[in-house]
Amino acid sequence: MFETLSDRLNGVFEKFSGQKTLNDENVQAGLREVRLALLEADVNFKVVKEFVARVGEKCLGQDVLKGVDPAQQVIKIVHDELVELLGGDTTELNISGSKPAVIMMVGLQGSGKTTSSAKLANLLRKQNKKPFLVPADVYRPAAIDQLQTLAKQLGIPAYNSTPDMNPVDIASAALAEAKEQEYDVVLIDTAGRLHIDEQLMEELATIKRNVTPQEILFVADAMTGQDAVTVAESFNEQLEISGVVLTKMDGDARGGAALSIKSVTGKSVKFVGMGEKLSEMEIFHPDRIAGRILGMGDVLTLVEKAQAEVSEKEAEEMARKMQKAEFDFEDFRTQMRRMKKIGSLDSILKMIPGMGALKNKLGDLNIPDSELNRIEAIINSMTNQERRNPQLINQSRKERIAKGCGLKLKDVNDLIKSFTQMRQMMKQMMGGGKGKKGKFPKL
Ligand code: GDP
Ligand code: MG
Repeated sequence: MFETLSDRLNGVFEKFSGQKTLNDENVQAGLREVRLALLEADVNFKVVKEFVARVGEKCLGQDVLKGVDPAQQVIKIVHDELVELLGGDTTELNISGSKPAVIMMVGLQGSGKTTSSAKLANLLRKQNKKPFLVPADVYRPAAIDQLQTLAKQLGIPAYNSTPDMNPVDIASAALAEAKEQEYDVVLIDTAGRLHIDEQLMEELATIKRNVTPQEILFVADAMTGQDAVTVAESFNEQLEISGVVLTKMDGDARGGAALSIKSVTGKSVKFVGMGEKLSEMEIFHPDRIAGRILGMGDVLTLVEKAQAEVSEKEAEEMARKMQKAEFDFEDFRTQMRRMKKIGSLDSILKMIPGMGALKNKLGDLNIPDSELNRIEAIINSMTNQERRNPQLINQSRKERIAKGCGLKLKDVNDLIKSFTQMRQMMKQMMGGGKGKKGKFPKL
């Protein structure tokens, strides 16, 4: 795997140990790492150059934040800039207006148009829409069959195209049928070539003129990295795309293509394909991809790994608490118990965005089982109220807790002290309480 950007920046700033603030020298060294990490994540060279320049300005203009080390500060700035560059918030599909809404799927051969058409229809149906799938790729043998089979699997109606028909006629006839049947959304799966092809572009432009789609989604294979950028540019010039579907993000592509396509075309990624199955498509969240590009971890992995152990809702709640420094002993105990099942605290922290650096600060987190048991014993002898409100724990309560678990007062003090420090660091790492811009990866 890649070394994460967080790791790299920590390495750089370690060399400058003792320097508690950002200055020209350490910022330049940090930016070098940012540049390399982005290039490795397959972000377009020009995009990287502009991006790094912007981050550099922000870093030097940054006030010194108490208790936050330079590496953390740079990571935070880079993260926020990435989210901004990726479009800030999630961009909604534009399917309001007159019915049926028309969505055209375009892109090179093999990028995932047919699969994504079916996946999107599936998503739309979950939102109580009535989708209609239209196979309009008459060139690739079995392409029509492929979409019709997927439609059948999903139980979603599809237009009955045949390979002898003309794609332009298919689109128009299907639209007429959709109107008659009162479908909400028409998804047209078009043909692709291995390379940009004038003839195909003309055909797509004709379909566009005839059916006036609300959305033209450019489907790009995330694994093709920078190549996807040139192709996106060309499709955008000729068809004026309205958004992007980034497929195959389940592979080890780091998402650099998302960043490059957005900055070059100005069009946002709206969906990501996360696997071959028809349920494996997600609405695009800029902060998740930013985290992935930075290698800051991906809470989805956490959710998956913990499987039944952690629900997504719970993870969200945990992040919210960390951000607000409301993380309490009850949460701490829950995480500890989970950790015993999943593996080390290390592996849990690595999966929570922004927590990699915390790990470095806390040092060796491979707490031996015996130590874990001691910590748990202390937490167990607290009252519910104390666990929920650690600030209640005064001297006399500490003494009672120590007696209750048969440990020394010093052990209780040590635990409370490291817990308080940890909580403060979590808050800083999550950018807690700094308004909406300062929002660190939402889980
Ligand atoms: P098209 O030529 O653009 O219509 O591409 P297809 O939809 O036929 O997809 C090409 C291949 O990519 C198929 O084998 C799909 O199963 C696969 N594919 C599409 N989307 C994804 C994805 O998000 N993840 C993975 N792993 N495979 C995908
Ligand atoms: Mg296809």
